[in-house]
Amino acid sequence: MSVFPFSSKLPVSHPGPPPTQADVVVIGAGIIGVMTAWYLARRGFSVVICEKGRVAAEQSSRNWGWIRQQGRDPHELPIMMEATRLWPELEAECGEDIGYRRCGVLYLAGSESEMAAYEHWLETAQAHDLETRLVGRAEIARMMPQAAALWKGGLHTPGDACAEPWLAVPALARAAARRGVPIVENCAVRGLDLRAGRVAAVVTEQGRIACDHVVLAGGAWSALFLRNLGVMLPQLSVLATAAATAALPRVFDGAAAEARFALRRRQDGGYTIAPGGVHDLLLGPDAFRHFTRYMPQLRSDPLATRLKPFAPRGYPDGWRTPRGWNLDARSPFEDMRVLNPDPNRRSLARIVERFAEVFPTLGRPGLRMAWGGMIDTMPDLLPVIDRVHQVPGLVVATGMSGHGFGIGPAIGRVVAEMVAGNPVGHDLHRFRLSRFFDGSRIVPSPAI
Ligand SMILES: Cc1cc2nc3c(=O)[nH]c(=O)nc-3n(C[C@H](O)[C@H](O)[C@H](O)COP(=O)(O)OP(=O)(O)OC[C@H]3O[C@@H](n4cnc5c(N)ncnc54)[C@H](O)[C@@H]3O)c2cc1C
Repeated sequence: MSVFPFSSKLPVSHPGPPPTQADVVVIGAGIIGVMTAWYLARRGFSVVICEKGRVAAEQSSRNWGWIRQQGRDPHELPIMMEATRLWPELEAECGEDIGYRRCGVLYLAGSESEMAAYEHWLETAQAHDLETRLVGRAEIARMMPQAAALWKGGLHTPGDACAEPWLAVPALARAAARRGVPIVENCAVRGLDLRAGRVAAVVTEQGRIACDHVVLAGGAWSALFLRNLGVMLPQLSVLATAAATAALPRVFDGAAAEARFALRRRQDGGYTIAPGGVHDLLLGPDAFRHFTRYMPQLRSDPLATRLKPFAPRGYPDGWRTPRGWNLDARSPFEDMRVLNPDPNRRSLARIVERFAEVFPTLGRPGLRMAWGGMIDTMPDLLPVIDRVHQVPGLVVATGMSGHGFGIGPAIGRVVAEMVAGNPVGHDLHRFRLSRFFDGSRIVPSPAI
């Protein structure tokens, strides 16, 4: 089995050096940072992306590649529908193959209660004119002729799509760089230089960049970064496990998931397989600090989260990870260039077994690669897209909660408008930072 290629051993593709001045500095070169910079550059801003490790090396290369409208929170769906429209345009503009295709997403129900939840979500789809429908056993058999008949029915959105995460975000970053966006790898942002309370510069390990605006798109590291500024963000990160099978016959061409198993056919003829929404919460001080805020989520799907001691050394919620540091000294971001967790071996064994149960003619698949990824999550499973009111000039776009790849282009467009002071075209109230502190009830987005 080969090693997952996105680690700190990956050669630097964007060496810098960083400029000394820009209109906007974007922190983080995942899908959110790259897309934000892309649209800012289009609006005529000078923008630089600082990345502590490598472009897309954390969540943005490790995901399943689903571009999914199905099952989304009603407030997120319009943004996701915009992203679905943007992806094919981006592929054309980027000029490289990113594996984009409209492959459809199929949810598979093992019980009547799951079918009822799908039926309930149809109301959201209908309210937004999204073509989604319930499918019965016969139709599933038509879509997956070689699958064992294991399900009562399903939910299908034919317009949902996928792209190859290993290809997509690095290619989009290269295209952004060709359009004049400097990207600097190995360039951790340690903190902000504030003048009269507002952003005047970022302080990086490679020097200071004067700027009026900063966008924090730091994925699993955003809460730690904000904490050093005295801003609380109840973000945690959970370990998700995934694997890539070797090339196999085409038994299904799209993306499908049941409660504890998910698969998608990749462009290279293999399948990306994963244990559905099951993940491990590696306990650290923030997990305890924010526990009560996460109770609604834990209650809504108690078996999805396995609690594991302890968050390893150097992780964002590690026990010894410093929560405060001076900007002239090495920061925790430089100590962990790429968060590259080991996958959960038990989960891997289970998904290989499940693949064989679902497709008995194929049996247990050989794995080409397996990996872990730390998903940054929020108590209500929805992102934070907001200005940080305590720090004028700082916008945060983080907490994508396991579904930020597909929506990334539209979030980037929205954040760029926010920085530019233009109307963003969507109601962002549900995504405000203050929702966790203003007494609002925490309502998790639909867990389907
Ligand atoms: C196994 C798995 C499966 C998933 N499946 C899907 C899916 O099918 N569809 C979907 O839509 N989403 C999926 N997701 C979620 C999706 O990958 C993420 O929501 C998305 O990639 C988040 O993008 P991001 O840019 O916010 O964060 P990231 O991609 O994590 O990027 C953040 C970047 O910021 C950098 N950074 C942090 N702090 C600093 C600093 N101080 N200075 C400089 N750089 C910094 C980090 O090094 C990192 O590169 C999945 C995630 C995982 C792990």
